[in-house]
Amino acid sequence: MTAILKIENLVKRFGGLVATDHVSLEVMPGEIHALIGPNGAGKSTLINQLCGELQPNEGAIHLAGRDITHLPVPARVDLGLGRTFQITSLLDEMTVRDNIGMAVQVREGGNFRIWDALRRRRAIWDETDRLLAGCQLADRADVVVADLSHGEKKQLELLVAMAMQPRLLLLDEPMAGLGHLESQQMIGMLRDIRKEAAILLVEHDMEAVFALADRISVLVYGRIIAQGSVDEIRNDPAVREAYLGA
Ligand code: ADP
Ligand code: MG
Repeated sequence: MTAILKIENLVKRFGGLVATDHVSLEVMPGEIHALIGPNGAGKSTLINQLCGELQPNEGAIHLAGRDITHLPVPARVDLGLGRTFQITSLLDEMTVRDNIGMAVQVREGGNFRIWDALRRRRAIWDETDRLLAGCQLADRADVVVADLSHGEKKQLELLVAMAMQPRLLLLDEPMAGLGHLESQQMIGMLRDIRKEAAILLVEHDMEAVFALADRISVLVYGRIIAQGSVDEIRNDPAVREAYLGA
């Protein structure tokens, strides 16, 4: 089986600081791969190289067998790379349904003419309803984004990302700022999403990581210090010392 994501010996330097120090990892289809590590370990720097916002100094990134190391952001999106942006990228004055519908339209090719748009409208809203079905936001489809709670905005962000039909979803701390119930809901959504996309999950909430991850990579000072299953990582003395504590 070909890995959806294959990172080989990736290096990113900021002046004298090696923020990504020969990082290698693979994410297989259908897998949730968690990336954990202390603040400043280089998790966001790694994600930003994967989505094309930062150029690595060395190494290679393959998406579904294609070398994407030097491709610009839109080309990576076309090849199936998805990510959540900041909540601020949601369209505040539009409803939940319209935000998702817009994202479906963008995927379908944003520049089509008005008559095409009308013909395809049915398919777009069917797809929007499919994405909304079964998640808590379904009841809030006609609410404008400005009136959503923080947790609801995070859920919408995820649905907007899924509207682009990614093969791999990059998530940088999706649980941040969520209460317990909202976290549980987010875990449920991610479990559903994994049927459609593999996930690289950067997360500090260990309850969520242990509930979701198939494999975990532990990053400390830019280096992967351990890689393995939940049980292997939980019981790894070096990981406990460097990150988990006790
Ligand atoms: P994490 O997401 O794991 O908390 P980051 O990837 O944000 O860590 O940061 C890793 C290291 O790289 C930190 O020491 C941070 O200060 C540094 N860093 C991140 N971005 C930049 C940048 N654009 N310029 C210089 N240093 C940076
Ligand atoms: Mg970060």
